[in-house]
Amino acid sequence: MVYRIPFMDLRAMTQEVRTEVEEGFGQLLDTGAFVGGEVVERFERAWADLCGTAHAVGVGNGTDALVLALRSVGVGAGDEVVVPASTFIATAEAVVLVGAVPRFADVSPRTLLMTPATLRECLTPRTKAVVVVHLYGQVADMDGLTAVAREAGIAVVEDAAQAHGATRDGRAAGSWGDVGCFSFYPGKNLGAFGDAGAVVTGDAGRAALIRCLRDHGRATGSHYLHCEVGTNSRLDAVQAVVLSAKLSRLDEWTQARRRVVGWYRDRLDPDVVPFVADPCDGGSVHHLLVVRLRDRDRVRQGLERAGVQTGVHYPVPCHLNPPYRRYADRPLPVAEQAADEVLSLPLFPHMTEEQVATVCAALRDLVPAEGDQRVA
Ligand SMILES: *Cc1c(COP(=O)(O)O)cnc(C)c1O
Repeated sequence: MVYRIPFMDLRAMTQEVRTEVEEGFGQLLDTGAFVGGEVVERFERAWADLCGTAHAVGVGNGTDALVLALRSVGVGAGDEVVVPASTFIATAEAVVLVGAVPRFADVSPRTLLMTPATLRECLTPRTKAVVVVHLYGQVADMDGLTAVAREAGIAVVEDAAQAHGATRDGRAAGSWGDVGCFSFYPGKNLGAFGDAGAVVTGDAGRAALIRCLRDHGRATGSHYLHCEVGTNSRLDAVQAVVLSAKLSRLDEWTQARRRVVGWYRDRLDPDVVPFVADPCDGGSVHHLLVVRLRDRDRVRQGLERAGVQTGVHYPVPCHLNPPYRRYADRPLPVAEQAADEVLSLPLFPHMTEEQVATVCAALRDLVPAEGDQRVA
C-alpha cells in the first residue's frame, strides 16, 4: 500500500549523501579494503568525538554491540542484569546471549524510561550490571541511575541505539556509563545501508578487549593467535563510507526532527493526545514521536484508512514475549499498560509542515469523535 504520509522516508537522506557515497564506494573498489581499514578507523574516531568518549569500536550491529559491551564489563553465566521492560527485544536478548539472567525493571509512566527507583527494586546480590535504554531518543536520568549503580557496585551499559547525539545536561548518550552501545540499522537516526553498530567507552583496556572480541579474539598484531573466544562482528568499510557521509549531516537532521516535533506539539492538544514526555530538556534526538491513546488500535486503523502510516514501539513488553516470561519476577504494570497505548506518529527529517498538518487533522477527526481519549 502506498501511504499519503509514510511512517518514515529515508530517500531524501540517501539522496543527500549519494554523490559522496558513490565516490567512497569507488575508492573501495579500487583498494579492495572491504572490512576494517582506514575508512572504518576514520569513522570510529569521528563517532568517539561526537559521543565525547576516548574510544569507539565499530561492530556488526547494535545487538552485537550490547553483547560485546556486557562481556567487556565481565557479565557472564549466572549473573543478573537489570533491563527495562519497555524496550526493543535486543536489550534483553543480549543479556541472555551472554548466559546471564535479565531482570526486568518497570518504567516511568511519563517517559517510559527506567528510573533510579525502578532500578533499585531489581537489585540482588547477583546483579552485575544494568543496561539503561535511552528510549525514543530521550536520555534517561543518568545522574540518578549511575549513583544507584555505583552504590550497588554494578556496571552501567547504555543502550543508545535510539539516541545518536542525544544529550542531557550537555553530556552525550553513551558517554555516561562504563560502555555505550549504538545501532546503525537503516531506520535509526544515523543509519547504514545495511547492519552496523558501535561501542563507545572512555577506558582504553575495555576498548582493546572489544576490538579483540569483535575479530575472533585475535591477539594484537597476530592473525592466527587467539587470546579470547571472540566472534565475527566487524564493521564493513562499505558501511563506514555511508556512516561517515551521513555523520556530517546528523546534526542538521536532528535539528530537522526537533522542528517536526515542534509542529506536532503546536497542533495537538496534549490533554487529548498526550505525548510521551521528553525529560532531557531539549536534548532528545526524537528517534520516535510517541503518543498514548486509550483506544490506540482503533485510532491506528483510522489513520491507516486516512493514508497515514504509524508504528507501535512496542506492542508486547519484553517480559511477555514467550522466551522471556521465565525471567519476569515482579509485576510491571506501567510497561504493560504502555504497550497497549503507545502509537508512534510519522517522523523523519525531511517531513514537511504540511505533512504534519495532515496527520494532525486526521488524528483530530478520530480522537475526540468517540469521547475522551485521555489516559489517566
Ligand atoms: C535497534 C535497537 C537495538 C538493536 O540494534 P540492531 O542493530 O538491530 O541489532 C537494540 N536496542 C534498541 C533500543 C534498539 O532500538
